[in-house]
Amino acid sequence: MTDRTRFLFRKSAWRIGVCFVCLVLALSFSACTDNASRPSPTAKVEFFAMNTLMSIEVRGEEAEAAVAAGRDEVYRLERLLSRTDPKSEISAINTAAGAEWTEVSEETFVLIQTALRFSEETDGAFDITIAPVMDLWGFSSGDHRVPDDSEIESVLERVGCEHVLLDESGVRVKLENPGMSMDLGAVAKGYAGDRVREVIKQFDTEAALINLGGNVTVIGRKPTGTLFRVAITDPENRQQYLGALGSEDTHIITSGGYERFFERDGKVYIHIMDPDTGRPARSDLLSVSVIDPDGAGSDILSTALFVMGREDAIRYWGEHRDFGLVMATTDGEVLVSKNLLGSFSATEGKSVTYFDGE
Ligand code: AMP
Ligand code: MG
Repeated sequence: MTDRTRFLFRKSAWRIGVCFVCLVLALSFSACTDNASRPSPTAKVEFFAMNTLMSIEVRGEEAEAAVAAGRDEVYRLERLLSRTDPKSEISAINTAAGAEWTEVSEETFVLIQTALRFSEETDGAFDITIAPVMDLWGFSSGDHRVPDDSEIESVLERVGCEHVLLDESGVRVKLENPGMSMDLGAVAKGYAGDRVREVIKQFDTEAALINLGGNVTVIGRKPTGTLFRVAITDPENRQQYLGALGSEDTHIITSGGYERFFERDGKVYIHIMDPDTGRPARSDLLSVSVIDPDGAGSDILSTALFVMGREDAIRYWGEHRDFGLVMATTDGEVLVSKNLLGSFSATEGKSVTYFDGE
């Protein structure tokens, strides 16, 4: 971590903890009219799930039912995927590590399969077996500590996606070695965004804004027919924005070290780990936002590209080009993928560079 990064972390006023920041500009659903005479009903729920604050806001004839169903879907996924709920399918897999196969739902199986595919594609920067490392640094308990080299070395023996075994015909999962453990924290909220969007669309929904702990999903447009503008938090000053994106039917998913970290002896330790080193990622990025209709994939990539850093993230984008990418660097730049030209507008004074991946 550079001196500048350390300074930026210190400058921010908060300590460890997941903070909820309203990323969405122009959220107002008021004065919604789908015809001249009658405004469409709107409803909003705010709730705590997956260790963070969430909100779901819907405009449409069945708005009340839609927001309730959306919230229930998040709760359902939390019960399925949480590693701290002993009854979840992920806990069942973790408990049986090194011993038994665990039968899981098709849904959990496919999500794990997706995570493993991205792990390969990102050369292991994304790794759902990172849990023992999170535990070692105290991120799971909140009892933070800086482990010594030998502890890190030994815990890394229990990390590696190549040791996650899948049995497709039996829909079973097994962690090969005892002490291994899965953590879907870097993909669960993005996947929840996908699912909540599906659920809400089953109601008579005109538009919706879903904010799952800073990961934003947009459905539809403003009553005036214009696009919603979703702001991306400035990691150097979370009261401000890097810029805003005109968005419709997509997710805007952000990862950043500033979201969760602790300080010891003047050093900052962030919650996004480099699976190669077993230590907080020494990224030259402060935040990575991925914009794409695939929420699970976006969540995975925002974490992975953060770990990979600026150069490899741009290279990865150049090889795929099918998603939007906004990155804040440790030296104060905002890097934006070329396909967002026209939809991203930077905050005045920000130094923005559009890249085309070459
Ligand atoms: P996100 O906020 O989506 O970047 O996810 C960060 C969370 O994912 C952390 O709090 C950990 O639970 C987990 N995590 C940390 N590092 C990694 C990694 N390299 N690959 C996968 N999950 C990770
Ligand atoms: Mg993520």
